[in-house]
Amino acid sequence: MTTTPMTPQPAPAPTAAARFALRGDLLDFGDEPAWGDVASPAVRYRPDHWLLVDGGRITGVQPDAPDASWERHDHRGRLVMPGFIDTHVHMPQLDNIASYGTELLDWLNNYTFPAETRFADPERSRAGAELFADALLANGTTSAVVFATAHKVSADAMFEAARTRGMRLVTGKVLQDRHSPDGLRDDVMQAERDCTDLIRRWHGRDRLAYAVTVRFAPTSTPEQLAMAGALCRSDASLYMQTHVAENRDEVRWVRTLFPDARSYLGVYADAGLLHARSVLAHGIWLDDEDRAALHASGAQIAHSPSSNLFLGSGLFDWTAMNAAGARVSLASDVGGGTSLSMIRTMAEAYKVQALRGERLTAWVALHAATRGAAEALQLDAEIGSFEAGCTADVCVWDWAAEPVAQRRMEVAQGLHERVFAFITLADDRNLVAAYVAGTPRHVRDVRDSRDPSP
Ligand SMILES: [Zn+2]
Repeated sequence: MTTTPMTPQPAPAPTAAARFALRGDLLDFGDEPAWGDVASPAVRYRPDHWLLVDGGRITGVQPDAPDASWERHDHRGRLVMPGFIDTHVHMPQLDNIASYGTELLDWLNNYTFPAETRFADPERSRAGAELFADALLANGTTSAVVFATAHKVSADAMFEAARTRGMRLVTGKVLQDRHSPDGLRDDVMQAERDCTDLIRRWHGRDRLAYAVTVRFAPTSTPEQLAMAGALCRSDASLYMQTHVAENRDEVRWVRTLFPDARSYLGVYADAGLLHARSVLAHGIWLDDEDRAALHASGAQIAHSPSSNLFLGSGLFDWTAMNAAGARVSLASDVGGGTSLSMIRTMAEAYKVQALRGERLTAWVALHAATRGAAEALQLDAEIGSFEAGCTADVCVWDWAAEPVAQRRMEVAQGLHERVFAFITLADDRNLVAAYVAGTPRHVRDVRDSRDPSP
């Protein structure tokens, strides 16, 4: 297996060619890889192949160069994968990423709520959403499920930033009408009006979708949760996003606030918020009955390993989720999480499982950030793989970005060892180009000395 990039061409300028072919080592999934199987038949690795893109969509993969009517982007010796899908991340929390010394509830009060309060200002929302969207793309994340803030303008700004970049993005205004500071609390009536208006203007427009966004059970009254449930029932194409069972103090608090609920997850189920388009972050402190309810509903847990380690929240039991048949996707959860990079997130997920005595393969990790997430979001006809007909959200990566990783690649035995070393050592420096719907939206500096023109 070749390990040295063979004088690839410079990355293309950010303009869209209607019809082009991208050459590289193509890696995606045809199916779900089994836990622990390093030789999984679900992996589709097609080294030195051509990915054909026409009109923003993938039209095929072939070993031979296409005819001269196709513009050719030669990335031979580089890794080409579907753009990553981050299923849980907070746009306004770039302002409080890497904040010291707290667990969840103090972290919210000390750092997060003050940061989010600033997004009442439309200009702060606009600038924050632009920075955030560009940062996602610079990390090879082309789709995301995103928390805005309680302010309607923050959701408007996030939708607009995604729309101008052509991204598949799900977001919504945060619902929180109690246990929150002045400047972040809404109320049931106003929140319902805001949601209805945002849904009317953004849901289903271009590649955008609305998520009914409950911060978490403690910050919504039962009346607001009921309103959120009614919104979900009014349109089955809406997503729902929230947090569940992240931290033990949080779980105890929910038990006192909702004494009649069977469990924390049960609060959401009782309100009509647990369904096939529900994305629940964390899910660390669940029981078997909760996991069975997740399976029955089709809802997914957005596993957020760097956040769970950083805030000391706990170790996610991925194998119990698998045993229950419940869906798991991967998420950065910035700003509780410490990096927008889904590759860094995968490396942290491996460590969480290692602390449980389990081994997360590169295949399960990559699948959860691509095809697995797309399936859980019911978007697999559009994103997450190189299936013909999918939108061309594609990222090109250097296998190695510096001499230590280069040496590791040279001695790696077999595909899994090589890809596992990649997800353990790589980050945004490895990203050469991120295409969104066939348009290069992030391109590494073409003056890079490792990109010599042929
Ligand atoms: Zn979160």
